[in-house]
Amino acid sequence: MTEPLQRPSARPTDDADVIVVGAGPGGAATAWQLAQSGLDVLLLEKSAFPREKVCGDGLTPRAVKSLVHMGIDTSEGNGFIRNRGLRIIGGGLTLELPWPELATYPDHGLVRPRKDFDELLARQAQKAGARLHEQTNVTGPVLDAAGRVVGVTAKVGPDKNEVTYRAPLVVAADGSSARLALALGIGKRDDRPMGVAVRRYFTSPRHEDDMLESWLELRDDAGNLLPGYGWVFGVGDGTSNVGLGILNTTRAWQDTDYRKLLASWTGAMPEQWQFDEAHATGPVRGGALPMGFSRTPHYSRGVLLVGDAGGAVNPFNGEGIAYAMESGLLAAEVVAQALARPAGPARERALQGYPQAMKDTYGGYYTLGRVFVGLIGHPQVMSVATRYGLPRPLLMKFTLKLLANLTDPRGGDALDRVINGLVKLAPAA
Ligand SMILES: Cc1cc2nc3c(=O)[nH]c(=O)nc-3n(C[C@H](O)[C@H](O)[C@H](O)COP(=O)(O)OP(=O)(O)OC[C@H]3O[C@@H](n4cnc5c(N)ncnc54)[C@H](O)[C@@H]3O)c2cc1C
Repeated sequence: MTEPLQRPSARPTDDADVIVVGAGPGGAATAWQLAQSGLDVLLLEKSAFPREKVCGDGLTPRAVKSLVHMGIDTSEGNGFIRNRGLRIIGGGLTLELPWPELATYPDHGLVRPRKDFDELLARQAQKAGARLHEQTNVTGPVLDAAGRVVGVTAKVGPDKNEVTYRAPLVVAADGSSARLALALGIGKRDDRPMGVAVRRYFTSPRHEDDMLESWLELRDDAGNLLPGYGWVFGVGDGTSNVGLGILNTTRAWQDTDYRKLLASWTGAMPEQWQFDEAHATGPVRGGALPMGFSRTPHYSRGVLLVGDAGGAVNPFNGEGIAYAMESGLLAAEVVAQALARPAGPARERALQGYPQAMKDTYGGYYTLGRVFVGLIGHPQVMSVATRYGLPRPLLMKFTLKLLANLTDPRGGDALDRVINGLVKLAPAA
């Protein structure tokens, strides 16, 4: 007779105040902030660090702000490479736009491969007191009789032992697959934009670029302009991260062979940059960009959605790391307040503060983002914008602030006030 399966759910170490599923930037920031509030946090991650994560590895000043908040050493000595702005290439022009000088955000961005960036953040959460469990693949929610989530089940370690973890609140930071949200019936919204992006590393003399570089003109085989952009980010370690992202606003979305597109785009670049097969350090890899709150509600039945799990990627520029961290910090603040109240209506009221805060913070901006995404789906608009917009410095300064969501909410310049005014006027997504 076989041994009966051990049910480790009886072990008290599997219980916590809060369970955070997924230790990407969103989950790590959530767990860090929760631990700062003195809560017992379990951070469950299916992979084992260090692990590769498909990304452009680019961090805008917005992302740097959250890293600083978490006490991460963002110096070059700690493996980061700084950038001072965005270089835009299009319409036959190259334009260098420094990051804006603001009170709210630093004046530089960073690049750091996700291979060790994510581990750095997860270890920071651990240092603050969060209990990180790697090789813990969460398989589904545990529900009480009322259908509220009171924990999760997981397959743990190389033997995939089934373990049940219990907590009154669960944060789903499991990325674009959003497995936990899906298990609760929270599907993807079809009225929100979606992107696909691919990237590859190449050893390149351009690896120490001090600008994030963005190419606005990507064309399909027939020469049509595609809604998206390509990037060249120097990683500082001898390699460049080169990739492209396309939006789902045109038919090209289904028909495009992204790997081929990357090869033909890089193939037309100067040979000495070495973005060719011989200098590639690995395969082309890709993933989804869930944008503009493509998964809502952000709170339901004891579960809060953070980062890509809540479709929080910025539709203007495809940036997701900053929004994963920020939504994680927001969620953690709400959870700390909620857990200080008795279970029941008072706690639920506090938890409803999370979707509201997400709406208040990003709703108007993401609505504008949807309009933008719709517009650049028309090749004529893209073509006119690059041809007539790029040569106008003030317009480009405005565009950079808008696309990277970098304004001062109070006391900013005239451009800040126009953008903040537009965001306020737009109905929240
Ligand atoms: C090609 C590409 C390029 C990109 N470039 C950039 C860029 O340059 N800058 C930028 O800001 N953003 C970029 N993004 C977007 C960015 O990668 C994401 O928005 C960001 O990673 C979201 O963070 P997250 O913590 O929400 O999710 P993730 O980073 O996806 O983390 C989710 C974590 O959950 C874990 N997990 C998943 N399922 C389970 C489970 N069942 N149980 C336990 N753990 C689980 C995963 O292993 C992972 O560690 C890019 C995306 C792509 C695809």
